[in-house]
Amino acid sequence: MRSWYIEDAGGGCRAFSEVLVLVSEDPCLIYQRLMPLTWNNDITFEEMARLIVVEMMIEAEASHNDYFYVCSGNIFYGLHKWLTENGYNWETTKMDGLAHDVAESAFQKQLLLAGFPAGIKLEERNYRDFYRTVESWIKEDPTRKRFFKDMTVRRKPEQFRYILKGNSSHTRKCAKCQKKISAFSPIVQYRCRENGKKKNRYYHPECSPYKPHKNKLEEAHFLWMGSVVSGVVLPLRKAAPCSVCGLELLPGTRAVHAGNGKKVICGHIECFNYVNKEELNG
Ligand SMILES: [Zn+2]
Ligand SMILES: [Zn+2]
Repeated sequence: MRSWYIEDAGGGCRAFSEVLVLVSEDPCLIYQRLMPLTWNNDITFEEMARLIVVEMMIEAEASHNDYFYVCSGNIFYGLHKWLTENGYNWETTKMDGLAHDVAESAFQKQLLLAGFPAGIKLEERNYRDFYRTVESWIKEDPTRKRFFKDMTVRRKPEQFRYILKGNSSHTRKCAKCQKKISAFSPIVQYRCRENGKKKNRYYHPECSPYKPHKNKLEEAHFLWMGSVVSGVVLPLRKAAPCSVCGLELLPGTRAVHAGNGKKVICGHIECFNYVNKEELNG
């Protein structure tokens, strides 16, 4: 049985290839590959990383008798799934030691080969500042643009950008049916970046083009003055008194929010008499 460490480097930098490594410390065995800067976008980013690691595993003759310690980063999500589905023994781990050093120095080597000044080094794992320096160095000279990663093939697939949640106090317009989405009702939010600007689109849950990848919705159906009111649980924006007990709710507290005519009901979760929605419909 061998223990293998699987680590990456350079993923946070907008330039130069990500390095992927497969390393055994005892005996000392090192396999490493670079991700391509761009590829045909039929293959997702995670799938590309998985294919490359599996290629190294074959070359290393790694087997089901071996144990794998894998970095938990999202570049390896596809690999994590594949290892489980194929019955390998593995776990995620915070990577230190040889695998980390090998991956980092392979990434640095790419920079040096491209002519990046050798004196500027990563310090105390401050990746953000270091990558920023690398990016400004590239922008100094148009011929260096070829070192940029193709970010489009590295983007998350569209369907991962849909989140089911509770709407805030704003009424939104559904991007599909164009009808209004009431405040404090279930809503699907689509988030993306266009030319560096954040953009949002909203849908009724039944109008969403994809089943939302994340579900942050917490509904609240409760009795209020003899009738059933539906709302959602959201973190409170501004301090306010609880509509039931009158005690002050602090900002950030998860609280029941609901609209009742023009009034807003807002209060401690435990102050409300919840009713089961399924029973109501039945
Ligand atoms: Zn709609
Ligand atoms: Zn209360």
